[in-house]
Amino acid sequence: MATPIVTGQTKLLGVMGYPVTYSLSPIMHNRALEVLGLDYIYVAFPVPIARFAAAMEGFFACESIAGFNLTIPHKQEVLPYLAKISPVAQTVGAVNTVKRSEQGWIGTNTDVEGFTHPLKKWERELETALILGTGGAAKAVIAGCQNLGIKNIHVAGRTLEKLQLLQQQFPIAIHSWAQIAELLPQVDLVVNCTPIGMAEQPGTPLDQEQIKALPPQTILYDLIYTPRPTQLLRLGQQQGLTTIDGLEMLLYQGVLALEFWLEQPAPIGAMAAALGIPYKT
Ligand code: NAP
Repeated sequence: MATPIVTGQTKLLGVMGYPVTYSLSPIMHNRALEVLGLDYIYVAFPVPIARFAAAMEGFFACESIAGFNLTIPHKQEVLPYLAKISPVAQTVGAVNTVKRSEQGWIGTNTDVEGFTHPLKKWERELETALILGTGGAAKAVIAGCQNLGIKNIHVAGRTLEKLQLLQQQFPIAIHSWAQIAELLPQVDLVVNCTPIGMAEQPGTPLDQEQIKALPPQTILYDLIYTPRPTQLLRLGQQQGLTTIDGLEMLLYQGVLALEFWLEQPAPIGAMAAALGIPYKT
């Protein structure tokens, strides 16, 4: 990738989070901006939670900042700072993308469609989903499952209060971690929305025996993208299951974010190539 030429008029995009240095978004978005030939750059903004309010005010004061993504731990914190929020972000209760307007920041959530996009190529109707985890990503995944028309949405978590709060927000069935085993034979989609399996938290949310209990047509979807594949997906592949990893979601949420900021089509093939994943039109 060529080093971008930064001018006095260069506009800034980026991702605000903490920690955020691991993010692949700068590589993906700078490649897109280069292909589009735009005077923009995309950078990581590490902002600890205690300085979030100051950052939001300061970022709006700086007119060259056109918009940014939000990641852990800011996706819900940002809500009170927005002038307007899209219906999808309202449903999820979390925002991962904001853009500047005269009135203030406008927020949306591209994680929902980022999650569903790789599933849309399956013609088979999905009926029963099991979602592991109750955090911000799980909310976007539940909303995505609703959009896909999945009738039975089961969520398993380790903290009962969080499960109950989710049940107030969405029409789902909730389960303790110990109840997962009895659900496995009836699901056709399993989504890992916990950090179990990340490089810093090695392991797998479902063990080999549990994966063997899944029907052969099950799609196993892990939101994690480092390492690739995660232990969960490796076990699923050994079992002959269809697997999807978090890079596809990262790609599509990024494509939608870029289109939200720039109001023009994103160069999806170049963005996929920057992430090292295949893309077929
Ligand atoms: P989060 O809000 O911190 O939620 C994490 C969830 O995992 C919580 O329900 C937490 O339970 C649960 N959990 C953590 N450790 C666990 C364990 N040992 N056993 C059982 N449950 C455990 O995080 P998030 O924003 O939802 O993100 C979740 C994962 O998705 C992360 O790995 C993140 O990198 C990934 N993600 C990927 C994309 C993408 O584009 N590919 C987008 C968003 C997120 P408690 O609440 O009880 O602690």
